[in-house]
Amino acid sequence: MLAGRFGYGGRLGAALIGAAVAIGCSVQGAAQGSAYATEAPAAAVAAAFPVASEARLAGDNKRTRFILDLDRKIPVAAFALADPYRVVLDVPQLRFDLAKGTGAEGRGLIKAFRYGLVMAGGSRIVFDLAAPARIAKVEVLEAANGQPARLVLDLAAVDRATFMQALAAEGASKEGSKAPAQTDRHDAAADAAEAAGDSRPVVVIDPGHGGIDNGTQAASGEAEKDIVLEFSLALRKRLEQADKYRIVMTRGDDTFVPLGERVRIARRQRAALFVSIHADSLPRREGDAHGATIYTLSERASDAEAQRLADSENKADAIAGLDLAEEPTEVADILIDLAQRETKTFSHRFAKLLMSEMKGVVRLHKRPLKSAGFKVLKAPDVPSVLVELGYVSNKDDLQLLKSDDWRARSVGAVAQAIEAYLGKRVVSAGPAQ
Ligand SMILES: [Zn+2]
Repeated sequence: MLAGRFGYGGRLGAALIGAAVAIGCSVQGAAQGSAYATEAPAAAVAAAFPVASEARLAGDNKRTRFILDLDRKIPVAAFALADPYRVVLDVPQLRFDLAKGTGAEGRGLIKAFRYGLVMAGGSRIVFDLAAPARIAKVEVLEAANGQPARLVLDLAAVDRATFMQALAAEGASKEGSKAPAQTDRHDAAADAAEAAGDSRPVVVIDPGHGGIDNGTQAASGEAEKDIVLEFSLALRKRLEQADKYRIVMTRGDDTFVPLGERVRIARRQRAALFVSIHADSLPRREGDAHGATIYTLSERASDAEAQRLADSENKADAIAGLDLAEEPTEVADILIDLAQRETKTFSHRFAKLLMSEMKGVVRLHKRPLKSAGFKVLKAPDVPSVLVELGYVSNKDDLQLLKSDDWRARSVGAVAQAIEAYLGKRVVSAGPAQ
């Protein structure tokens, strides 16, 4: 039933549910929820998830307590991560009924925290720490004495050496930081089966962010992750009408997908093109930029703004509580070098086509073609481009990003560019074979 939420054949959905089961029979709430769901309508399924109704912080910069009110007892796993210092709580999928802005401001050892889905069946709360801290206690208390069930996390200040020692000691038992997000959720055999007999070029559409990672946010509350998902789903629909390409989405709903996994999906699908969809924002004091920008990969950023953007987009995994030190390097550097030269040429060609299709149809940034070191563009053998649709910090851009008319026009322009690019590619590849 949950698998049906995933737009692309339910394969990733099924794999995710597999992962949810694999992380443990400890996910009791979720298991009960789905058992109940077999006979219940969709609304009841949502209602079946445990509900978090309030979060609060207490204490100071020596000792800080986080309390989350719940409607029932749930299992919890906690672990810490370094560089940046974070503490992560993994819990079954929760419904977060928290006041807007909860977690934006911290207290004591906690600078800020965020929460959300990291996979079907699993939610996560990630705390950014102001200083290294030890998890002194984490427990979930039964409802008692008129108090609801609640999750309590106590942090105690330690120095960096102690923090790093504790991390090392956790070592092998630190499975939590790998699961769920860093497990390989796409199954290569399933990819091959899906592609069997289908010789159409594969286009991977990559809606940025998702789940616990909201991306950037408009002052009025609109989240980048929702804007880009809506755009990406419309683009998929539009491209599928042409029936010339096989479209693969890195996510089809509000789920977190690590950056490396997005790249792996493109590579495993032997994609002809990878298009990552984002929206940008500028802090008020840094001016009021507007319009769409198209980015390709480069080691050195084309300008300071491109560098700032790549830095912020590359933070997605840290935001979701992944251990950045564990990011695997899977291709030998020399191979990357050889393949990348050609891929770079193709990426540029597509970026230019995209710019000429978008020009006149949608607002473009005053310098619409830029480059920087985006992690998500690093597939050595897949031409990859990242599109910032506009600035949610700009009032006019935000109006456009939310409008159906703008979306239809810009989806049309991106689809045209993809058709122009792949059409040319197929024609030029023809005589050589
Ligand atoms: Zn983004």
